[in-house]
Amino acid sequence: MAVRVQVVVRGIVQGVGFRPFVYRLAREHDLGGWVLNSTQGVVIEVEGERERVDGFLGRLQAEPPPQALIEKVETSLLPPVGYSSFVIEASREGSEFVLISPDICICADCLRELRDPHDPRYRYPFINCTNCGPRFTIIGDIPYDRPKTTMRVFAMCPRCDREYHDPADRRFHAQPNACPVCGPQVELGVNGAQPPRALDEPIETARRLLAEGAIVSVKGLGGFHLACDATNRQAVATLRERKHRVDKPFAVMSLDVETVRRYCEVREGEAQLLESPARPIVLLRRRSDCPIAPEVAPGNDYIGVMLPYTPLHYLLLGGVGLSSSKASLPPSLALVMTSGNMSEEPIAIGNQEAHQRLSVLADYFLLHDRDIHVRCDDSVTRLFRGKEAILRRSRGYAPFPVRLNLELAEILACGAELKNTFCLTKGTYAFLSQHIGDMENYETFSSYQSSIQHFQRLFRVEPQAVAYDLHPNYLATRYALELAEERGLRKVPVQHHHAHVASCMAENGVTEPVIGVAFDGTGYGSDGRIWGGEFLLADFRRFRRLAHFRYVPLPGGEAAIKRPYRMAVSHLLSALGEEALELPLPLWTVLEPGELALVRRLMASGVNSPLTSSCGRLFDAISALIGVRGVVNYEGQAAIELEMLAAEGVDDIYEWRLLRRSPMIIDPAPLLRGVVTDLLAGVDVGVISARFHNTIAAIVADVSRAARQKTGVGRVALSGGCFQNVYLLGRTIDALERDGFEVLIHHLVPANDGGIALGQAVVANACLSGKER
Ligand SMILES: [Zn+2]
Ligand SMILES: [Zn+2]
Repeated sequence: MAVRVQVVVRGIVQGVGFRPFVYRLAREHDLGGWVLNSTQGVVIEVEGERERVDGFLGRLQAEPPPQALIEKVETSLLPPVGYSSFVIEASREGSEFVLISPDICICADCLRELRDPHDPRYRYPFINCTNCGPRFTIIGDIPYDRPKTTMRVFAMCPRCDREYHDPADRRFHAQPNACPVCGPQVELGVNGAQPPRALDEPIETARRLLAEGAIVSVKGLGGFHLACDATNRQAVATLRERKHRVDKPFAVMSLDVETVRRYCEVREGEAQLLESPARPIVLLRRRSDCPIAPEVAPGNDYIGVMLPYTPLHYLLLGGVGLSSSKASLPPSLALVMTSGNMSEEPIAIGNQEAHQRLSVLADYFLLHDRDIHVRCDDSVTRLFRGKEAILRRSRGYAPFPVRLNLELAEILACGAELKNTFCLTKGTYAFLSQHIGDMENYETFSSYQSSIQHFQRLFRVEPQAVAYDLHPNYLATRYALELAEERGLRKVPVQHHHAHVASCMAENGVTEPVIGVAFDGTGYGSDGRIWGGEFLLADFRRFRRLAHFRYVPLPGGEAAIKRPYRMAVSHLLSALGEEALELPLPLWTVLEPGELALVRRLMASGVNSPLTSSCGRLFDAISALIGVRGVVNYEGQAAIELEMLAAEGVDDIYEWRLLRRSPMIIDPAPLLRGVVTDLLAGVDVGVISARFHNTIAAIVADVSRAARQKTGVGRVALSGGCFQNVYLLGRTIDALERDGFEVLIHHLVPANDGGIALGQAVVANACLSGKER
């Protein structure tokens, strides 16, 4: 007997070859009906013998295309209508939403064709299929169809058109389908040449220029990169100079894992991360004989490495042989691939824009004519104890949502100031945006605004409330308040460290109260002071401050963040008083003239010297005090260099004091005294660094134990940028677990401010539902 079944498939099912898969499956089971993309997912009707329909449904879920992610399959039985064949119907628009696939690196089939001299797409830099290629970065709206992507301007040639319409073809409805005849083309231009001059054989010429030490701006998937030979010290130094980026590490790209092993250690899980379809930058420990220029990541034992993710990258690295007899350069060991921008600005995406903004940075421009609709930086990740722990969640991950185990209202969470991301929620999904960046300039802010609008349109979210940081001067906070005013939305301010802890709880699926340990550089406290070394008893709804580091002045505010030696003075004077000035410390000789007097004046008067409990600033202070880093040129530098120095095999700690008040106060004065004593006794700075780290881990364990006695809560959530320090994180987890605590850490969203928006969203949701009750 014939039956007709309607099937709605939700998840990542568009732009991943799902309809042709359904089509082939229906044909194989000899079923009639249709399939289409709609704004709620893929909708299918099949009609035929009961057994064959069951077989179809079984295989639908058992063997989906590699990049598809089925979240839910709903079926309903309908009366048969006598479909005679199976067809793919036009997409249907509506008000619901679908999940949108992140960009996917070139697949093995396309790579094989790229390398095959007999294939029509041999060496074609835009080869793709339903299993790979650009997605999020070219989509203007849903449903995902070619006219709604930046491919709409390329009319397909007869061959591409045939593939596109042939359900048996790998490129059936591959929206970015293209070939050398009809698709996008690359062009290599000489910077500043008037009239504009395009060079022949753009990619091979670019390779030669790179090998000769040139800096080439390369248009990628989510923006421009600046590329140069990573083994050429002069080229890397020049790039740093032009970009005004003194020490912050550059990422590099190499052809494959084998090549990466020539300069970094690659463990098995790290190889998997490198080769994953998201192709993130993976932090890898450099080998002692590493031939990469030291200027790539000064003062750092790790290098951020990624594998090529577009066909253009493969060509540029020399990973595709030439068929002609022309001598080809050997493949590059590694290219620096850093975002195409001046430090602090957003990554450039338009050709015009690149010419304007990158002309002082690049010698040549390797451009193409496929537009980038959405700006999306490379993601950064690492392996921690066998599991991924992401540091920047962007290309290849966004806009895939973080799944939560609770239903959320529609909320816009605006995020923090640094490493900004925002978050929109709907149902059980938290759509965390790609990395927006530091909101310090107009360009980043305007990119932020347009990204919010784009996400709202793509995911059909109409926020009823807006969540934001307490800091009155964050651009994201001001944006939130204006938007709430304009649209009449509910306003939910969320304390910075509460948001950190909530984000860690949310990604771990925990809703019951935890002891939240939030250690970072800066966050606006409920008392108007600068927090950053916090123990909170927290759930989504509320928090209570259980303990914090003792307040010390931040002499000169922002200036003290850029000059860690000011924090060293502040902590020394707070701990030891005036006697500190009598000690023969190297710090006194490295302070710039007048600085000591100025800092003391600021501290004494309290003018422009806000009080802070920041743990990040304590790391800064120790780093400066022991002569590691007194002035920084990127965020977190002093702490990172201190971590890199920590000696192995050191287990002892410094003393410290816990003042049992409410909240409890952690007084680091004995710690400072211990460090000074070691320093004056000539103890190796690597040992001092290790002891300092161990002390912070011990503080977390001891204070958590005191908190457990008070509250009965035995679960600790670790969040905040300080916990990106793997030495600290490892020691802290071990100390807590020895004490019988369950420990939650970040894996899916960053521990740093890039994860704040998720926490704001879940807190706002709890506040909304709490008030309704
Ligand atoms: Zn492919
Ligand atoms: Zn074509």
